[in-house]
Amino acid sequence: MLDKLQIPKDTPYWWDTVEDKYYPKFSPSTSKSIVDFVVIGAGFTGLSAAYTLAKAGKSVVCVDQNQPGFGASTRNGGMIGSGHKVSYETATRLYGAEAAQQLVSEGLSSVEYTVDLIKHLKIDCDYQQTGRFRMAWSIADYHAMQKEVKQLKGLNDHLTLVDPQNQHAEIVSPHYFGGLIYHQHGGLNPRKLHDGLADAATEAGALVFADTPVIEIKKNGLVFSIRTPAGALRCNKVIMATNGYTRQSFAFWARRILPIPSFIIATEPTEQVASLLPGKRMMVETRSRHCYYRASPDGKRLILGARAAFTNIPQAKATATLRNLLNGIFPSLANINITHSWRGYTGFTFDHIPHVGCHEDIYYAMGYSGSGVAMAPYLGNRVATYALSEDQETTVYTKTRFYTRPYYRGRTWFLPALNVYYACKDVIENHRQKKDKIKRKI
Ligand SMILES: Cc1cc2nc3c(=O)[nH]c(=O)nc-3n(C[C@H](O)[C@H](O)[C@H](O)COP(=O)(O)OP(=O)(O)OC[C@H]3O[C@@H](n4cnc5c(N)ncnc54)[C@H](O)[C@@H]3O)c2cc1C
Repeated sequence: MLDKLQIPKDTPYWWDTVEDKYYPKFSPSTSKSIVDFVVIGAGFTGLSAAYTLAKAGKSVVCVDQNQPGFGASTRNGGMIGSGHKVSYETATRLYGAEAAQQLVSEGLSSVEYTVDLIKHLKIDCDYQQTGRFRMAWSIADYHAMQKEVKQLKGLNDHLTLVDPQNQHAEIVSPHYFGGLIYHQHGGLNPRKLHDGLADAATEAGALVFADTPVIEIKKNGLVFSIRTPAGALRCNKVIMATNGYTRQSFAFWARRILPIPSFIIATEPTEQVASLLPGKRMMVETRSRHCYYRASPDGKRLILGARAAFTNIPQAKATATLRNLLNGIFPSLANINITHSWRGYTGFTFDHIPHVGCHEDIYYAMGYSGSGVAMAPYLGNRVATYALSEDQETTVYTKTRFYTRPYYRGRTWFLPALNVYYACKDVIENHRQKKDKIKRKI
């Protein structure tokens, strides 16, 4: 069903909550002839790296091909948490027990780091440690959660299982079979966090330029030449922080990052939000539709994201899909209008784990696979520290494998097939849930 009252805006709700800020374009006269660092991409990763480097006394230029924040950093759901897209079990299978434990521990560190940074820089971004409620879509999912809590004992103890009988304290919906609370997680306004990081980076001395796409990177001797339409920047070191917006021409990274669109809506203000989400937490489901939702920081709107498609479908189609998902979860919101419906690109890796590294002397941090609000500022800091001195112990994300596949050259030709595969999976999961609901009634 398409919204009957109005066509939603196709820009993020978050953009309406702040004054627009415009950054200048790079021109060769605006920067030193050779700077210590050029950071490519002015999202959470790039700005956090620029801030770290400028604080360390380095001359830094951070460029974005659009206005800073045009990427995922101001388009996301504003849920800050420590999770990876892979379970502890999968991480152990891929990288062994020690690395899996480090991944859990650094996941938690990423939240601590970003929250401390928000507090230290006094960024007013509506941050609240609300906790996150991960809801089991089926009885089997709830059992898997019980198993995971046991596995994580001693590694992450900020968890509480909520059995199906008690989930009404968290959510009022006909779906779900209990869930797991991650107490360390929270919510914030990502546009405000982004703008606060940009202010911190510029105040520390970094130059931030907009509308300055990097077209080519060349190294002549010890100096890099960074080509942009306005002229070349010269620098000693480079950091790539382009995640899901990485251009195909940067083949090494483009072959390892899958730009997958992610869709999200915001409703008009409604008093119902408070009663539907009594636990006031960030909410995320286990089904592969991956619905996640929350109240806006003022508690008035519902913001919901989900997989509408893996491909770039028209906005009206994405809105309709998300509207139907919303109606299924909260039937009482069926007549509430959707005011915003937007999308952004996530940067997935083949192992669904982010990576930090150095390729042909170019440092990079990317591949957050849809979970970067805590991790991107954290790894922006880690990659900057690594680039400052490779001797410094940085992060487990330098030790995992950033790999590609022979069939992937940066063009996601296979995503339409994934749409079909996941459409079948949705049918199976919904069918399983129906059966579980019948069992619950017996
Ligand atoms: C709809 C959506 C919802 C999400 N929800 C959540 C959530 O609730 N919680 C969570 O943890 N994560 C979430 N994420 C993921 C999170 O937003 C990202 O992981 C994070 O913002 C990545 O930050 P980044 O700085 O690495 O990349 P981005 O913010 O995407 O920035 C990359 C920048 O690089 C620039 N760029 C690219 N190429 C060039 C070039 N050649 N020259 C100059 N500039 C260039 C782009 O313009 C862009 O601004 C979500 C993502 C999306 C899209």
